[in-house]
Amino acid sequence: MRIAGATASAILQELAKMVRPGVTTGEIDQQAAVLMRDHDCRSAFLGYRGFSRYTCISVNEEIVHGMGGTRRIMPGDIVSIDVGVVKNGFIGDNATTVAAGDVPDSIKRLLAVTEQSLFEAISHARAGVRLADLCASVEAYVAPRGFTVVKEFVGHGVGRKLHEEPQVPNFRPSGKSPVLMPGMTLAIEPMVNAGVADMRILADGWTAVTLDGKPSAHFEHTVLVTAGDPEILTWRPREALPEMLGLPPL
Ligand code: MG
Repeated sequence: MRIAGATASAILQELAKMVRPGVTTGEIDQQAAVLMRDHDCRSAFLGYRGFSRYTCISVNEEIVHGMGGTRRIMPGDIVSIDVGVVKNGFIGDNATTVAAGDVPDSIKRLLAVTEQSLFEAISHARAGVRLADLCASVEAYVAPRGFTVVKEFVGHGVGRKLHEEPQVPNFRPSGKSPVLMPGMTLAIEPMVNAGVADMRILADGWTAVTLDGKPSAHFEHTVLVTAGDPEILTWRPREALPEMLGLPPL
């Protein structure tokens, strides 16, 4: 899982560098194919329930599961890239959202709050913690800051399969909740909207977009629960925190 996570992270970081005005989402996805070949791994998404791309690339109002194609990235767009790979039979899954050129402070704040909400959840990925408390920490961080979490899609256990038990929603789930134990590996992935939480699926059958057309951000890590601190298997350098961006404190 460590090797799969490091591989997924390396590929995601390379792809994120490609995000700039003029590039198409299809070009990024094709580069993913090249990088996966170079890293001797394969896409965990290609062929999943018939999905036909190597990665998910979701622009602006697209929340998740965007399909790389002819959409050309424009100045001020935000682009979410989700990379899941299978390496030696194990899966690493991670996502980030980056801006193409300069974006308004409101968008920088959306990105920063979403990424920080991921780290709030990761701080709860400890043995003995109830999963529901980890899940609840995402919405508890996001909602007071004026954003909404998507309810229809959730994080998940990950290992030899892409989607394993348990589900990891970005809000407090109802019912009995398992206690985290060392050795569990979770894909934690807040999806946060600038406007309403509601979404719809485009005619391609995959792309989820915000109902009000406002932007959405997505950050994800594969995290190992240990006897001590959580281990982020898909670690990458963080984007700037809000205060580093010169934004007002959260
Ligand atoms: Mg995932």
